[in-house]
Amino acid sequence: MHNETGFDEMRFVRQIRYHRLGAIGQQKLSEAHAAIVGCGALGSTTAMSLTRAGIGRLTIIDRDVPEWSNLPRQFLFTEKDVCDGLPKAIIAEKRLKEIDRNVQVIPHVRDLSAHNISDLLSSVDVIVDGTDNFETRFLVNDFSCRENIPWVYGGVIGAEGRVMAVIPGTTACLRCLIPEPPAPGSLPTCDTAGVLGAAVMVVGGVQTSETIKILVNAAPPTESTLFVFDLWDSTWKTIDLRSLSKTGCTSCRGNDYQWLNTSNNQSSILCGQDAVQLYPTQRAPNLRNIAKQLSCFGNVNENPWLVRAEVEPGITVSVFADGRLIVTGTRDPSRARSIVSKTVGM
Ligand SMILES: [Zn+2]
Repeated sequence: MHNETGFDEMRFVRQIRYHRLGAIGQQKLSEAHAAIVGCGALGSTTAMSLTRAGIGRLTIIDRDVPEWSNLPRQFLFTEKDVCDGLPKAIIAEKRLKEIDRNVQVIPHVRDLSAHNISDLLSSVDVIVDGTDNFETRFLVNDFSCRENIPWVYGGVIGAEGRVMAVIPGTTACLRCLIPEPPAPGSLPTCDTAGVLGAAVMVVGGVQTSETIKILVNAAPPTESTLFVFDLWDSTWKTIDLRSLSKTGCTSCRGNDYQWLNTSNNQSSILCGQDAVQLYPTQRAPNLRNIAKQLSCFGNVNENPWLVRAEVEPGITVSVFADGRLIVTGTRDPSRARSIVSKTVGM
């Protein structure tokens, strides 16, 4: 039964009974709009748990389709989804609406960039980090500071995870903590160090509760902490960042948003996958024509968001409606470019 303001009191009775959330908090949640950037492991977990918690609206941005190696930790997706080849953001919308038909989901099959971030994220109340790379996190951090929109950083490698809620002008931001993105190869990634699904669940759970606290204005305004754990070592730490938040950095106190002024890389190697993403053109491709072209290499999987085909044994080319390409089966950008020019002619 819905109350006069719109949420189902019976459904959320246990949450409302938790006095620090209460009916007022539940009402705020039902009116809130969160964006999830990246719908992989952390994005799946946070999208699902925010939906179950009764969030009103979710914007979901993801550039990719699910792969077999995603299934141990990307909880929204199934074997059938891998076979069907639909984009993660589109599958997420369907699955989340199966969980709660009242949630509004706005899916974007896009790669978040300095060019499109204002269009995609200006109207949201909070941004949840589901990305796998620091370049996108620094972009989100700058945008958050400029637009005064809180965001919740989350990272997981192996059995270790970390979470930090950023409230611009109040807490420390990502750049206060890490002045520059780590140089490529200097940190372990989920490619090199692996990742455990259980650690994803913990980080996703903490990100979800931080997000809910922000949305119902429950977080003490001076709180600035980094939560770090290692499930294998059974260690849990909350690191006090108040000394950083007092002074801030050039992003959160100095109006210097260098990451919003950089353009996209022309190619990037995708973390956790044997794959390279390319941007050969700014124009939207004609997917129908590309499907015809690729059909001479083998079976083509075609839907309104992308066209995909195995063009040689172990090498798959996916062409997306926004002009991006992902070549799976190689980590060599120049080999990926040559495969694309031979098969798609871009
Ligand atoms: Zn800062």
